[in-house]
Amino acid sequence: MSTFDWVTQLIYVLAASCFVLGLHLMNNPATARRGNQASTIGMIIAVATTLAIIAHAGAISVTGWIVMFAGALIGSGAGLYSARNVQMTAMPQLVSMFNAVGGGAAALVAISDYVRASASVSATTSVTTLLDVIIGAVTFSGSIIAAGKLQGVINSAPVTFPGARVVNLGLAAVGLGVGCYLIAAPNAAVLMVVLLAALAFGVSMVMPIGGADMPVVISLLNAFTGTAVAMAGFVIGNWALIIAGALVGASGSILTKLMADAMNRSIGNIIVGGFGTGDSAVAAVAGPGGNVQAIAADDAAIQLAYASKVIIVPGYGLAAAQAQHEVAALADVLESHGVEVSYAIHPVAGRMPGHMNVLLAEANVPYPQLREMDDINPEFARTDVALVIGANDVTNPAARRPGTAISGMPILNVDQAKSIIVIKRSMGHGYAGIDNELYVDPKTRMYFADAKAALADLTSAVKTLVG
Ligand code: NDP
Repeated sequence: MSTFDWVTQLIYVLAASCFVLGLHLMNNPATARRGNQASTIGMIIAVATTLAIIAHAGAISVTGWIVMFAGALIGSGAGLYSARNVQMTAMPQLVSMFNAVGGGAAALVAISDYVRASASVSATTSVTTLLDVIIGAVTFSGSIIAAGKLQGVINSAPVTFPGARVVNLGLAAVGLGVGCYLIAAPNAAVLMVVLLAALAFGVSMVMPIGGADMPVVISLLNAFTGTAVAMAGFVIGNWALIIAGALVGASGSILTKLMADAMNRSIGNIIVGGFGTGDSAVAAVAGPGGNVQAIAADDAAIQLAYASKVIIVPGYGLAAAQAQHEVAALADVLESHGVEVSYAIHPVAGRMPGHMNVLLAEANVPYPQLREMDDINPEFARTDVALVIGANDVTNPAARRPGTAISGMPILNVDQAKSIIVIKRSMGHGYAGIDNELYVDPKTRMYFADAKAALADLTSAVKTLVG
């Protein structure tokens, strides 16, 4: 190994250390920003080192350099623009699109390498190429469908048809079968059959996933992106790519397992399709029976001010209204009046993993006040007021019955509180598209308003009451 080689390998180790440090710092909201910066530095080091290796090898023409820099400029510009301008509520769609381009790029790397050298490709390279193309292509098409569902341009309800599972299994069999043939007889044209089967599988895997189950599939696609990138690293022999991909793949897999456990779903079912395909249409049409009882700010303030224990249940509506500072202000007033306040965080509340934690950290809500579902659920029964703010599916008791889009999903036991106040603008559905039985519970009072305005009114009403 030449001096240049071992110095560049050493710099790659430095880049990889930055990635690991970055991930570690992201464990805590207080250090997450520094974690992001450490990972960015690692990525700059890795890219600069790779460019130095390419230049040293002299393997690229002037046109090649121009094309590469033009691509990098366009890609970085688009990434920077979208990351700076995206609304917090549209972040999951952006993450899905980033997953799509990550998986797509990894697949293209393997395809171009294979097309150049298909006649002389070894069995080992064939295996990594195939894994890269299959996983990358599934991620690409699956993530585009997921982004479309999250954005509302594709029906967010499960889209399925009779025999969908058989089609999925058939596509998987074609991809794997043709892949095995390619290991024995490398052929660039036949690789396109695998590519098409994998692209179709990505679409048919995500289309039947509906409503409340989207978080699991987003995390799974994130894990796929990392795995595809690691495979691309094996194909072109780049350690930085292998390590970065493996870190994303491993952390994405852990997140997928956590989300699947939180939703009480099996990961195997996602891949062959068809979970979350409960009879949401029937549930939505049937709707909950019973009366809806509304409440105004003054009465809600009396309940809150004279409670000894209040649990705040934030959901997507809090993020949509950008009302994190207002909820923190209300909690402060209640606490200074001696009310015990905590926040119940459901793992899939909002539209991305950790959404509520990030949102509330922005308003400097003390981290110990944020309580995870399993930890806080036993406390609802001795809670005076559960204040639900823009949360819907994660509180819906329909999850405890079979036959709905959220059946089996563990929920926050809001209905066990002594009284419940729900802030939202209408009787409209949440992401899963089904009615919420909590809203007609005799203990529930509906406060129909935008969360930001409602919380500001509630805070001033409580202040007036407690002086
Ligand atoms: P939901 O999507 O179930 O409900 C949100 C509610 O917020 C709506 O019913 C809406 O009612 C209300 N709302 C919207 N805007 C406002 C506003 N400005 N002020 C007050 N209320 C508002 O949210 P949850 O957090 O309960 O559940 C999350 C759902 O999203 C789950 O089904 C989950 O599976 C899914 N999901 C989660 C992801 C994740 O990673 N966390 C990713 C993808 C999907 P109204 O219009 O009447 O105001």
